[in-house]
Amino acid sequence: MPPPEPASTTLDGLTREAARLGAGGAAPAAAFNALPLTDAEGEVARQMQICNACRYCEGSCAVFPAMTRRLEFGKADVHYLANLCHNCGACLHACQYAPPHEFGINVPKAMAVVRAQTYSDYAFPQALGALYRHNGLLVSLAIAGGLALFLALAVALKGGLWHEPLAGNFYAVFPHNLMVVMFGSVFGFAMLALGIGVTRFWRNVSPGEVPEGGNAPAAAEAVHNALKLKYLDGGHGEGCHNEDDRFNTTRRLYHHFTFYGFMLCFASTSVATIYHYAFGLQAPYAYTSLPVILGTLGGIGLLVGPVGLWRLKTQRHPMHGDSAQNPMDYGFLALLFLVSLTGLLLMVLRNTGAMGLLLAVHLGVVMALFVTLPYGKFAHGIFRSAALLKWAIERRLPSRLRLGSD
Ligand code: SF4
Ligand code: SF4
Repeated sequence: MPPPEPASTTLDGLTREAARLGAGGAAPAAAFNALPLTDAEGEVARQMQICNACRYCEGSCAVFPAMTRRLEFGKADVHYLANLCHNCGACLHACQYAPPHEFGINVPKAMAVVRAQTYSDYAFPQALGALYRHNGLLVSLAIAGGLALFLALAVALKGGLWHEPLAGNFYAVFPHNLMVVMFGSVFGFAMLALGIGVTRFWRNVSPGEVPEGGNAPAAAEAVHNALKLKYLDGGHGEGCHNEDDRFNTTRRLYHHFTFYGFMLCFASTSVATIYHYAFGLQAPYAYTSLPVILGTLGGIGLLVGPVGLWRLKTQRHPMHGDSAQNPMDYGFLALLFLVSLTGLLLMVLRNTGAMGLLLAVHLGVVMALFVTLPYGKFAHGIFRSAALLKWAIERRLPSRLRLGSD
């Protein structure tokens, strides 16, 4: 099939250009959708045009039914569909037009390339968007190592790395208020940056339509689909693909270990904060206390999940996704694993003379994770959740195409 004409000379391109020029006071989403496409976005649009004629994969995931609601694919459509794709590989393994066919259809790869581009495009501040391309395994480990070394030196200067057992009193090493200011400000900035980025994305991809019955049912469905990782089931419940044509549920399982492990650790910190400020109960908490139980369960999840995802990634089919993003993925998995490992070691050895050093290493790794959160793999969960919400809203609206089946 010959390559498509440049967008500005096709009928679609001229339509979008006219819409853009005439969209002075129109909704930002419509104006954005009319902007010229990058090469990567144009490739997604090309593949979606072919898929829209074929529709063999309609039941695989949400991308294809969302695609059928469109006849052309503008910038916002492409950003939305790219983030709705879960890179499960089902449509690649099912496709009769996949390479070496001349159509060269590889939807997971085309979507993955645009997905990474959207993380950079919507990053806050914009100038830091380039960090996504440099946030690899070595960078993550170097940041963690540097911060851990800095904190270990601070402990050493204060009284030595090896000390008398302090009965697990972390605040004797780093004062509570110092830790709150250091970690609260970095985590707060990470959440702010991600929040601003996903808000920009939402404004561009969603024209703000509200389905009959309001947005609440759509929001509930989106949360359900995100928590269940519904679209990693291949559309039939048997799972996605990893190294070959076989279906595989382990990828979803390890994602769940990782996600719920992270959330349990977050819950542990939140409960400990409530204990501290609301009830005046200070750490260390007993091994049978709620913060320690939540943290231990979360820590186990963050060991099992990242190790499993790392192993699956090393075996992944080379045509899945965009291998240029592997360093970013490995960097994120490594930090999650190290946060958990050092946290569990700290808990077990908190009554020994090694607590100060272990605390410095653990805090250094946690800080590295927080610093890289807005410019690394963590972003995929935020942007995909927003795309799932858009799909849950969109599918409740009447199709604008108003074809016979609508
Ligand atoms: S991925 Fe291939 S088989 Fe699936 S809808 Fe597109 S063209 Fe058809
Ligand atoms: S890779 Fe999976 S989630 Fe992505 S478009 Fe294909 S079937 Fe859908």
